[in-house]
Amino acid sequence: MSYIVSNINQLRQQLPAHVKLVAVSKTMPVDNIMEVYNSGQRCFGENRVKELLEKEKQLPGDIEWHLIGHLQTNKVKHIVPFIQMIHSVDSFKLLDTINREAAKLHKTINCLLQIHIAREDTKFGFSFEEIVNMIESESFKAHDNVNICGLMGMATYTTDITQIRQEFKSLSVFFSVLKNKYFSESSAFAELSMGMSDDYKIAIEEGSTLVRIGSLIFGARRLI
Ligand SMILES: *Cc1c(COP(=O)(O)O)cnc(C)c1O
Repeated sequence: MSYIVSNINQLRQQLPAHVKLVAVSKTMPVDNIMEVYNSGQRCFGENRVKELLEKEKQLPGDIEWHLIGHLQTNKVKHIVPFIQMIHSVDSFKLLDTINREAAKLHKTINCLLQIHIAREDTKFGFSFEEIVNMIESESFKAHDNVNICGLMGMATYTTDITQIRQEFKSLSVFFSVLKNKYFSESSAFAELSMGMSDDYKIAIEEGSTLVRIGSLIFGARRLI
């Protein structure tokens, strides 16, 4: 068995049944992705549209592709035909564009709203306040072709476990507040995408339902 397959098998044993694994395959060649696919994994995450489109063409049609990286509005139309979920909706303009492109194809796209929880200012996302303002706006309610499935967040890149836990906890609490106040009727609003290779255990303890894991499965990424 290859190290990749052994890595993912080991990881699967640690994930509770209610937590879904998004295998983050960015920068990894299709051969490696196929190994993971053949071990039973169907859900994969990519962060760049160009790379995603190239891989989508070459790989089996029953893969569920998740976009996890920042998405430019002019690229939305390329992924709407096949994308399973967009984790990185970080502006109203982007949500609006996804809705419009999805409507053209008579589709509904699963979206997560990305929240900025980290201390670094390099990471994309809404503040808690911006989310509330957006949800309360009339224009938000008119979006029939996006399915708001929950929230996504990335913790600060730090070794301070207390801080990471604190950031995940704040996202989890905010998720519950939104669920109760605005989405109590929505069965779709149920996903909390948080946790990567280094912090997924903490994320799961704080309520994650979707972990996005790359290097722990595939090994260290090549620099591109
Ligand atoms: C790369 C990436 C991941 C996976 O990171 P690893 O540390 O390799 O597990 C998760 N989420 C996002 C948004 C990423 O860009």
